Amino acid sequence: MVVSSYKFRLYPTKTQESRLDDAMIPKDKVYSKAAQMVLWQFYNNLKTLSSLSKKDKLIGKLRFKPKSRYNSINYNQSGFKLLPDNIIKLSKIGKIKCVIHRKILGKIKEIHVKKEITGVWHAIAICENECKKSCSLLRKKIIAIDVGINNYCYDSDGHVIKHPQILKNSEEKLKRSQRKLSRKVKGSSNRLKEKLRLAKIHQKIKYQRNDFLHKISRHYVDNYDTIFVEELKIQNMVKNHHLAKSISDSSWNSFFQKLEYKAANAGILFAKVAPHGTSQSCSNCGRMVKKTLAIRTHHCPYCGLVIDRDYNASLNIKQRGIDSLPTGCREVTPLERTSLAVIQADHGHVISMNQETNHFSDE
Ligand SMILES: [Zn+2]
Repeated sequence: MVVSSYKFRLYPTKTQESRLDDAMIPKDKVYSKAAQMVLWQFYNNLKTLSSLSKKDKLIGKLRFKPKSRYNSINYNQSGFKLLPDNIIKLSKIGKIKCVIHRKILGKIKEIHVKKEITGVWHAIAICENECKKSCSLLRKKIIAIDVGINNYCYDSDGHVIKHPQILKNSEEKLKRSQRKLSRKVKGSSNRLKEKLRLAKIHQKIKYQRNDFLHKISRHYVDNYDTIFVEELKIQNMVKNHHLAKSISDSSWNSFFQKLEYKAANAGILFAKVAPHGTSQSCSNCGRMVKKTLAIRTHHCPYCGLVIDRDYNASLNIKQRGIDSLPTGCREVTPLERTSLAVIQADHGHVISMNQETNHFSDE
């Protein structure tokens, strides 16, 4: 089973909006859906805390949750219905206009209705899908993707996707708004306005990043039948302060998650391989060629191979992935490995999927 979620925008009328606001705040009567969910969540939190403390994990205390932080309602199993022409019916709220921009696959198990700080409403549909059985065991179009600091990713077909620089582009705006906010008097309406402005900038960054990640993950799932990446240890990488910001901005984890569920839905293989040595060993002769992060070109003194460091890593990831497949599933012979290394001369042409994606690249 694959669980996927679909987020779409809701456009409630003024009356519906006040009904939704009302429904989000738990009342003393326990029959309302919202109150039931709050109790349920509270019970679950307590259960998790006690099980963590039994395992000698460090735990904090439950925090008081003010009214303002109740910003969502959950409908589990019932109380909602999707109607034709972009309408969603929620019990006690009514028929709300929405934009379902993607086809929802599978059975909807739950719907979360959420109000963002910016006042925008979203519905998140949680669906369950059967994993598609892979059509063929023979892996023909295999791609390995190496994510990196210099480029967003480099794949084993020699394609480069540049960093979208989303955070960098909005950084000035963010800083300005944060500065302004800190100068406003607490509780004033001007502070509230600035808070809203800041939330909108954050929301835009989130939308742009998601859009970018959806496009590139879709590109790989549509064009290949096997995708290999390497296991990431982002926690350790973020400790390096020079890289921390660009790594956090890259959201590789989110990229891999999107690849994973899209691959599962499409019935193609997605797998992570062990990362050690993928950037150091030579993809052509297999010898170790030590290099620091600053050295961007792999220059093998043993076999003379000269290629981009990330391209070399992606070829290693690909080979490691192929080696992990049962022999019957490999159509790639060791021959292909050498021929791949030979196309080095042509390394680094930039993938362009459509104009919007180009817009996020550096050019
Ligand atoms: Zn070599």
